[in-house]
Formats: sequence, C-alpha cells, structure tokens
Amino acid sequence: TQYNYFLAVFQTLIYKLTAQDEFNVGIPVAGHLQAEEHELVGHCVNFLPLQAKVSSQSSFAELLQTTQEMVFDAFEHPFFNYGELITELDLANNPSRPPLLSVVFNVDFIDSNVNYQGLEAELDSNGRRFEVFELFFEVVVDGNQVRISCTYNTELFEKTTIERWIALYQRLLHAGLERAETSLQALPVLSDAEQKLLFHDWNNTKLDFDEAVSLVDLIAEQAKLNPSKIVVQSEPGYFDAEVFSYEEIERRSNQLAHHLIKQGIGPDKLVALCVRRRASLVVALLGIFKAGAAYVPLDPEYPVDRLAFMLEDSSPDGLIVDEDLQSILPPVSVPTILLDGDADEIGRNDSSRPDIRIKPESRAYIIYTSGSTGKPKGVVISHGAMVNFLRSMAIKPGLTSEDTLLAITTLSFDIAVLELYLPLMVGASVVVANEDETIDGSRILELFEKHNVSCMQATPASWRMLIASGWNEEHKVKALSGGEALAKDLAASLYERSTELWNMYGPTETTVWSTVYQLQSATDDILVGKPIHNTELYILGEDYQVMPFGVAGELYIGGKGVAECYLNRTELTQERFIDHPFNNAPGQKLYRTGDKARYRIDGNIEHLGRLDSQVKLRGYRIELGEIETVVRAHPQIDDCAMAVVEQANGDARLVAYVVWSDLPLTLTEIRKFLGAKIPAYMVPQFIVDLESLPRTPNGKLDRKRLPANLSSISKEEEFVAPESTQERWLADLWKEIIGVDKVGLYDNFFELGGHSLLSMQVIVRVKKEFGVKLNPRDLLLDSLAHVATKLPLRETSDSLAEEPGQQVQSQQDQAQQDQAAKQMEAEQSRPEQGKQEKKGLFRKIFK
Ligand code: AMP
Repeated sequence: TQYNYFLAVFQTLIYKLTAQDEFNVGIPVAGHLQAEEHELVGHCVNFLPLQAKVSSQSSFAELLQTTQEMVFDAFEHPFFNYGELITELDLANNPSRPPLLSVVFNVDFIDSNVNYQGLEAELDSNGRRFEVFELFFEVVVDGNQVRISCTYNTELFEKTTIERWIALYQRLLHAGLERAETSLQALPVLSDAEQKLLFHDWNNTKLDFDEAVSLVDLIAEQAKLNPSKIVVQSEPGYFDAEVFSYEEIERRSNQLAHHLIKQGIGPDKLVALCVRRRASLVVALLGIFKAGAAYVPLDPEYPVDRLAFMLEDSSPDGLIVDEDLQSILPPVSVPTILLDGDADEIGRNDSSRPDIRIKPESRAYIIYTSGSTGKPKGVVISHGAMVNFLRSMAIKPGLTSEDTLLAITTLSFDIAVLELYLPLMVGASVVVANEDETIDGSRILELFEKHNVSCMQATPASWRMLIASGWNEEHKVKALSGGEALAKDLAASLYERSTELWNMYGPTETTVWSTVYQLQSATDDILVGKPIHNTELYILGEDYQVMPFGVAGELYIGGKGVAECYLNRTELTQERFIDHPFNNAPGQKLYRTGDKARYRIDGNIEHLGRLDSQVKLRGYRIELGEIETVVRAHPQIDDCAMAVVEQANGDARLVAYVVWSDLPLTLTEIRKFLGAKIPAYMVPQFIVDLESLPRTPNGKLDRKRLPANLSSISKEEEFVAPESTQERWLADLWKEIIGVDKVGLYDNFFELGGHSLLSMQVIVRVKKEFGVKLNPRDLLLDSLAHVATKLPLRETSDSLAEEPGQQVQSQQDQAQQDQAAKQMEAEQSRPEQGKQEKKGLFRKIFK
C-alpha cells in the first residue's frame, strides 16, 4: 500500500540519520473505530507504537514486506496503544522528553478538490504551533500530489536540519522505487550539492611546495638569514642553562651528525633517544636528521619493561643518551653516544653539514602509543608527512619570527614536533622547559614572564594546571589546545587569557594535528574544525558509506600526513590504514581514527567521543585493553576490566575492576606489579573487587554496566594515622582535594588518586597558608609524612581556621628544620615495616 511505502521510507530515513537498526516509531490511529464509536465527533487519535527493526544488508523491498507485517500486527492490538503501554511499563520519568516514542509518522489521504454544492472551498492547512513529540513527520497525499511536513522540537533541531531531512526523505522516496532491490545501506543519502561539498569543497586543502626541501633545509635557510639570532634556550636545571643561536644549533647538529655517521648511523638508520629536556635536545634531533637517520624517543619516566620492549621492537642502530640515564635502560649492543659525556668528542667533528639528502619518504621518527592488545605500537612517520604538517602549521595557526614558543611536551608525545621544529623553521625562538618546569605551573608562569613567551601548545590538563597556578589575563599567549577534548569551562577561561585560542585535533597516526579550529568567542561551540593542508576527512558509516551532514559517523583521515605503518604490525596496519575507498590512485590510504564525529553545515567538524575503548586521561592516550592485558597476567587475577570513572567533583579516575582467582591483592601490591610494566599514568588509582564482570547477552564485556560507585574500593591494609599538626592539616587538604575519606601517613598523593592538576591546588593552598612553595616532585615521589616536613611548624591548634597567617621567612626556615628533626624522630618510632614497603614502592613506580 502507499501507506506502507511511505512508512518504510520513513524507517529508512531514521536508520540513515541515526545508524541505529532498532527504534520506535509511533503511528496515529483513529480511536473511534477501535472504540466502535462510529458516530462520535472529535479527534480521538491514539498512537500505536511500532518497534522498527531494519537490517542494513536487506533490500528496500524486504523492508516493505516486514513493514507490512509490523503494521498488521500492531493493528491487531489497537487497544494496546501508547497510553496503555506507558501506564503498564514503569518508565522513569524524564520531563524533557516524551517516554518511549520520540518520533511519530503519519500519512493522511485527502481530496482538496472536494465539491460542496453552492460553495467554493479551498483547503487551508494550519500547521501546529506546538509539538509533543520530538519529531512529527507527516505525508499528505492529495490526489496525485504528495505534501511532506514536519513539526519538531525547536530546542533540538534547526529549521535547516529539518529541511535537509525532508529533502533526504524525498530522495529516498525515489530511491526506494528505483532501486527496490538495493540494500538499505547502499541507498544514497547525499544530494549532488552535498556530495560536492563533502568530497570536493571541504577537502580542497591543496598546498603546493617543493617536497625535496627537507626540514633541515628550511631551518638552514632561516639560519642563513639570521645566524646570530638566539633560537633555542633552556634554564638551568639538571644541566646548566643553554642558549643557542641559529649558527650554534647548525654547527652543533652538524658535528653530531658527523659523529653519528662515523659510528655507522647514516641514512635510513634508527636512533633511540633518551635524554633530559634542555636546548641540546634540539641539537640531538637535528643531528639525527642530518645524518639521514630517524629517532625513537624513550621517555626516562617509563618503567624499564616498557623501555626494553620499545628497544627490542624498534631495534635501533644507535642510542643517544645522557650519562646518568644509561642505568635505567637495559644494556644495548649498538653504538652509544653520551650527549653530555661525549660532548667534547662530538665537538671535534666537522662543523659543515654532511652531504646527505633527506628524502620525503625517509622515516623521521617512530612514536609508540598504547596498544589495545597489551603492547604499545610504533607509528612510523616520514619526513614528507612531518614537513607537510609543519608547513601547514606555519600558515594556520601560524607562527612568526617575532614569536617565542615555550615547549613543555615530552618527546614521546608527537605534539612536541610542533614545539621543537616550527619555531626554528619560521625564524621564531623556542624555550625548552625542563622536566621540573613542565609539571610546575608557577614555574611555567615565571618562564612566560622571563622570556616574554607569546605562544604555547598544551593539553587541556596542562592548561588547567596553569590556571590553577594563578595564571591571569595579564600575560596572554596564543594558546594551542589539543590532544583531548577541550571542555567549555576551560575554553572560556583560556579565551580570556589568550591572544588567540585554537582547538587542535589529530591522532599520532596522521602526524600530530589533522584539523584546527580557532574559537571566536569565550562561549563558542567547541569544534575541531577543518582539515589542515593536503589532508582529507571523511565521516563514514558501515561499509564506508558517507554520512549526511549532522549525522555522526567514524572519522577517516587521508592525505600527506597519513603514517607509513605500525612498525612490525602488518595486520594492525591493514586494519587501521585502509585502501582509499574513493580514490584508486596507488598507495592512497585512509586512517580509521575510531573517533566519532559529524559535520556542521559550515564544514567544521564536531568531535563526539570515541567508538572504542581508547581513552584520554589528562592528555595521555590509553587503550584500556592494554592495561587489562597486563593486569590479567597476574597469577592471582582471573579477569579485569578498566574504566575511566568521573567522580562527583568532575575529576576522572582510572579504575580497575578485578575478579580474583585467589586472595585479593592490596592496592599497593597491584600498583607495584603494574608500575614495573606500564607508565605511571596507566596505573589504576582505584581497584574495585567484582564477583564477575558484567557481560552482554553475547558474552562481550558490558562496560556500561561496570559500577560507577567507587565505595567498594579495596582499602590499603596499612593505615598509620597522621599525627602532627602539619600532617593532619595536609591529610585534610588531600582528602578534600582528591576526594577520598582517608589519608594515611605513608600515603602518596598520586597513589591516592591525585594528579598533576590537583597537585597544583595543594601547592597553591600550602603557599597561601604557610608561605612556602612545595615542589611538585615532592608530592610525586614522597609520602604525606615527608611532604609534611616541608611545612613550617605551627604552635597552636590544628584547626585550619584558627591558624595564624603567614610567618616571617627566617622563622619559617628554623621552624622547618625543627619540624624535620621532630619528624625524623617520630618516624623512627613508627611501624618500620609499613614505611619501608611504601618507600620501596615509590622508588619502583616513579623511578
Ligand atoms: P594522540 O595519538 O595521542 O594524539 O591521540 C589522538 C586521539 O586523541 C584522537 O584520536 C582523539 O580521540 C583525541 N583527541 C586529540 N585531540 C582532540 C581534540 N582537540 N578534541 C577531542 N579529542 C581529541
């Protein structure tokens, strides 16, 4: 019937717009007939709820058939209508939406040419001013004309969206007739104009440049223009301050390149790099490039197991390391260069650039990211991809020779590529913050002032840390935020403190950032924007079907930034880097991001979260599956699921849900076990004991049903209560800031669930209360007992409110020493075993 046909097309529309294969549609039916009240005058409409089930693979003709059956079934039970159903079902009441049904579909057959004797009549449809349902879609058949109209919730949908959907419905009406045997999935959804926008206009990102010119060539050009300009510097820390001009950077990196070549590390070789943060880091990187080699960064903060895996997996041809960091790495049998210890020898090499051409397809770096099967995977990025990225960044967001950028990101996160190379490429300068500075908001602010920093890139977590440390609007910078979703509240605060605010998006696999978006106001929508140069984006559904505007799908990225592969992981490479479905040119690939996104009508992209169990926690990319595999390897553990749980205060925590095969381990034991295998940021902060993991009917882990209430957290077996005024004051503060109800003397701030942003809050509060500035590393490495020794002695009661204000510095120092002595005495009389166990644990985890 016509009715069936219109309804089947409507179901196809909903399926196309939601990518759901099960949904409810309400159909209005005339109540008079059901009540057998044929003479009753009035509008006695009932709604029959239909449970639509569509299969993307079945044809439209098949859908027509099942629609017919569904409608007949519904009409067999006309009294069991919408009203009955919601009375029967005990549904939770949500005042913002109608229960059970959001969409209603109706077909009316009318005859507007009806003749009344002696009267001239004209049909005037008066549209409804208010709508109960979210979407009421109506088809009116009038003779051989069809009119489609829709009333909708104006708080949910814009007029243009509804107009687009009506147009899509019309196209599907035709497609259903013309291609009845085509699968629903393959029925087209785009108009010609939309097709042009999505495939051409919005992916028209071409930027031409000479690909033979490498990054080191571009830097050399700048160096020639301004050899004495100071371009890279770092403050004293573990090493002395370093200040390098272009000329020095060039000379030193050339010498290092010759030194590497002498050790057999030339073109196409790989160098593992494990050095502390300072200006010389840039020398090391450029030296490796100039020798024609690529680097794999090894973060000294990583546990030895992970470093050993990365060394084994990448099998580098050489190692550049700082002398004191050698001991944290497993022994290697390749040439080893000490960046500090061999400095004199390196400096005796030829200072002109080795005659080695860097090809665009040569590897530039390999960066390891979390892998869902339990081991990290190395992403291989070429020089061509890196140069394309940097050239695009030079245009948008842009950096000029007037700028000074503060680099705070670890080399093992690919965004460091922007920080360390872009300034040199455009004639700007870069200040390399050392490890202590990068985790200390107030020191970053000092660097802002001292070096007149004009631009910084950071993850939202680091931006929050800076704001918590007292950053105000007086020193504005151009702020590039990325790596994780930018929250609205943070965007608003950042907007006030920045000359420009950019949201940057991109996976490591497509070279740092693939889209950028400049926020235009403090309350602007948070979008990830449009593709960078020579980059294409597609939002696709099942079987690479292009999703219409506004409809969520998976984001795929193509273009020059797409990585070569995952090192030694052919299968995974094939799974994630697919043959380009819309471009047959050889070698064209799209990277499947796992990110859920949709197009806005202006071509900007909105990021809507993940489609898999990858998470971002304080900027770190984590595959929950990787942690689960490592946890499950413990002999006392039967099964495990990981989740990120948001606490009442909005803070996110990594939680391990564990099914024990034996006696449960304590949190300390489990963290100790994991701390030796995975980086500290992947170690869970809470453990929840479960009898079994929640599963879906087909046996898959049902993450949504993991308990979010963390009250059943297993408690530490040792608890030594804080004693002194300082200890109790600090314990109270930690309780408040971390959101736990118990803090023991030997507890560590980070182990209890604190993190860098929260540690800034502790530092600010301690400074305000006692006038002393704690070092974030104290919180990172030591117990409450130790941190409390840093607080000056208080003579009066332990209540925070009753404490005297700030003290004179010299008194503080004396008091601090006294307190430390007292503390040591106290510690000696405390249970020894617990203390040693804890201290050992901290060393192990945070080495
Ligand atoms: P990584 O490879 O560590 O750079 O992580 C890439 C992933 O981080 C992306 O696939 C996204 O899931 C997420 N991501 C990066 N930048 C953003 C952003 N600006 N907004 C939302 N998510 C982001």
